[in-house]
Amino acid sequence: MTVYVVDVHQLVHTCPADRRPHPFATYRTVVEVIPAGPCLTPITLPGTDTTVDCKARRHHHEQCDNCRITVQVRTVTTTRRGASRATARRAA
Ligand SMILES: [Zn+2]
Ligand SMILES: [Zn+2]
Repeated sequence: MTVYVVDVHQLVHTCPADRRPHPFATYRTVVEVIPAGPCLTPITLPGTDTTVDCKARRHHHEQCDNCRITVQVRTVTTTRRGASRATARRAA
């Protein structure tokens, strides 16, 4: 199984619509890809000698163990942003 390790970073603010801190942007960074190896059940395209990995043709739950992808979240970090628009303009 191919594993994508990701870091999640959220920007959190308060705004007039919601005074409680809430995330308004989320960034995901892929920090590591752990490949599983070649496709175990390659598919021959009809009428050709060409074979493709099953991940190119099949839905996720039908793919072989090597093609299937899982995402592992390593860390989640949060940054608070300023509350008011006036503050943001002054900072820019
Ligand atoms: Zn908001
Ligand atoms: Zn496969």
